[in-house]
Amino acid sequence: MAQAIKKVVIAGGGTAGWMTAAALSKLMGRQLDITLVESESIGTIGVGEATIPTLVFFHRLLEIDEAEFLRETHGTYKLGIQFENWRDMGKDYIHAFGVTGRDCWACGFQHFWLRAKELGLAGDFGDYCLERRAGEANKFSHLPNNGLNYAFHIDASRYAAYLRKFSEGFGAKRVEGKIDHVQIHPESGYIRSLKLDSGQEIEGDFFIDCTGMRALLIEQALHTGFESWSHWLPCDSAMAVQTEAVEAPIPYTRSIAHESGWQWRIPLQTRVGNGLVYASRYQSDESARTQLLENIEGEMLTDPLTIKFQTGRRRKQWHKNCLAVGLSSGFLEPLESTSIHLIQQNIVRFLQFFPQQEIHQREVDEFNRQCEFDMERIRDFIILHYKVTDRTDTEFWRHCRQLDIPDTLAAKIDMFRETGHVFREGGELFVDSWQQVMIGQGLMPERYHPLVDSMSEQELAGFIQQIKRGVDQQVASLNGHNEYLKDFLAGR
Ligand code: FAD
Repeated sequence: MAQAIKKVVIAGGGTAGWMTAAALSKLMGRQLDITLVESESIGTIGVGEATIPTLVFFHRLLEIDEAEFLRETHGTYKLGIQFENWRDMGKDYIHAFGVTGRDCWACGFQHFWLRAKELGLAGDFGDYCLERRAGEANKFSHLPNNGLNYAFHIDASRYAAYLRKFSEGFGAKRVEGKIDHVQIHPESGYIRSLKLDSGQEIEGDFFIDCTGMRALLIEQALHTGFESWSHWLPCDSAMAVQTEAVEAPIPYTRSIAHESGWQWRIPLQTRVGNGLVYASRYQSDESARTQLLENIEGEMLTDPLTIKFQTGRRRKQWHKNCLAVGLSSGFLEPLESTSIHLIQQNIVRFLQFFPQQEIHQREVDEFNRQCEFDMERIRDFIILHYKVTDRTDTEFWRHCRQLDIPDTLAAKIDMFRETGHVFREGGELFVDSWQQVMIGQGLMPERYHPLVDSMSEQELAGFIQQIKRGVDQQVASLNGHNEYLKDFLAGR
């Protein structure tokens, strides 16, 4: 059977473009002719430095050497995100990557914890999560069988450069130039070629739009439409600046809530990525700039960069012979560092759906349905942070508390409040995270599972203490994050 897609053209060379080129060239490089077009004069968005643990698996799929990757990207380890002042001023918690406590077959650990807390037998919910405690203790080691769940902080530009080298090693070709025009086949509506301003024409069987927020192919040429979620997520602006590190890197991202948004701090080996995400309705660019610069440490290495964005999703991520990957496919603010995950998710899904002969609409529809599900669930999780808060100190936070929210999220919040349950739907990305963030934001269930009462108080105390002791022992056995990182990079 002849394979219909032989020549793939990737438009754009940011994180999305080069991650796509890396995966396709490594896994299908012998069957495909892969060309990536990018324009140095346009450049990339230049942010996108915090990741989640799924990137570890993407790298394993590509057989990327972790030490080499961390050396090249000036990367560090990440065990979660510390949310500061989100629930209220002075109240912090860590959303860590691991599982909290231990489930029994019938009910989640939070039920046992709730009862133990009521009886004065338990500490913070996070005390029973290894990744949270390791993060707080500034520790890291690789543990067998992913015993410690981790992700990375990376320099986004270096990551793209690293993946470029990787992809070219597997035969991907790079063309420098500005795409001027997308040529569409008049009958089929398929993309035929990209015309560059040099006059060069790049033909292909399949096109991957990685042109960032411009969405040159999927939107400007194919007009697939955009569903805005800005009525649910009020932030629409960001300002980013890099600073020199003033201390050794910690293994978690900091997310600090301010009056009209929040600030990130992402520690790399020798510098820190900083940024303020804010709602322009409540804060001007000038005031954001002042606030950001007042809340950074160390010498500034770059000028502050303002980025305007619209939250939402492209109605079709795959249309005809075009797939949108990265910012061209939609955008959710970086609160839970999910964009790079969505890039790899689209790539891996595309590989799973790779057309055997011609493109079947049934497959395209199913692909788009799965993408929609993923983005909507992540969207809900992000809205949760804004909605469930005790903050009333500014107009922005008062607005967030009163937000109308999607029904899917309202159902999850009500279920947790009334019963303590959180159920995973389909292939939903976040599971344990829901409990951590809901409890961290101050949402306490009114009841716990009756099964907990089959334990006596003494048994419950023993169960809870045993888990805590296990976590304590494991934390004690880990290395200091920076020392471990240095040894790992040096191959020791
Ligand atoms: P870009 O980086 O914008 O790349 C677009 C490419 O297309 C460039 O190579 C450009 O030259 C090319 N191009 C465009 N037009 C043309 C043309 N006409 N001709 C030729 N080439 C063209 N994600 C995370 O996972 N974690 C984070 O912590 C995180 N933080 C973020 C913070 C902010 C404020 C924002 C806005 C985003 C953040 N993201 C984060 C998202 C992340 O930055 C992106 O998902 C990621 O960088 C991928 O971007 P991209 O490759 O789609 O687009």
